[in-house]
Amino acid sequence: MPEGDTIHYAASRIRPVLQGHVPDSIETPHPRFGRDRWPEKLAGRAVRSVDAHGKHLFLRFEGDLTVHSQLRMTGSWRVLDGPRRPSATAWLVLRRGDRTVVQLNGPVLELMTESRTRFDQRLAQLGPDILAPELDAERFLRRLREDDPTRPIGDALLDQRTIPGIGNMWKCEGCFEAGIDPWRQTGEVSDAEALAIVHACRPRMQRSAADGNPRRHQRIYGAAGRPCPRCGSRIESRGQGDSNRTTYWCPACQA
Ligand SMILES: [Zn+2]
Repeated sequence: MPEGDTIHYAASRIRPVLQGHVPDSIETPHPRFGRDRWPEKLAGRAVRSVDAHGKHLFLRFEGDLTVHSQLRMTGSWRVLDGPRRPSATAWLVLRRGDRTVVQLNGPVLELMTESRTRFDQRLAQLGPDILAPELDAERFLRRLREDDPTRPIGDALLDQRTIPGIGNMWKCEGCFEAGIDPWRQTGEVSDAEALAIVHACRPRMQRSAADGNPRRHQRIYGAAGRPCPRCGSRIESRGQGDSNRTTYWCPACQA
């Protein structure tokens, strides 16, 4: 599942192709866009900026129009060399020069006005991006303390209102690096401990956002039954939270 670093990596690949330029062509091959006329609405407009916030990506065009994408479990962005025929799963294809930017499989892809991106409920309530150049720690802690104090800290960190960008893998790795049990109730986790998890994730996610390779930071995710890389005890796994995301942790050295 794409997490914040993957979205920031996609934005950094798309930016040099589109930012400051009018795309040569725009297509929406997926049938769901049949009558939406995006190519006509966006024709002749330059892309002002390509922004990532948490797991959301925004292509901001001139004239107050923005393409908003959220990849959830299935979607992806690709930047391809050379002219390509859009694949059957392409929802949006933007060409400029010899490069093609493709959005595959949605599942959230919408054209909205710039002002709607500020007032849309889902977007307006997003917390501070874990990958922002300067982390807004105060706002992160405020949002965390507004949440249910009985919620396990691992699950609370997946809430996009608290700290968008951390997904299930980074939640496991961050709790492991900080030595904190993801099952502890949030109300019993100190501010310093919560920040330690975020500060463990941030530099690793920044590296992954730069090189597109999150896997090399995996020390505990997916490693159930194997020895803990820190203490050698057996790594456990169990589903956590409303969406039952498989959580990996070492019961011996995560307190
Ligand atoms: Zn351990």
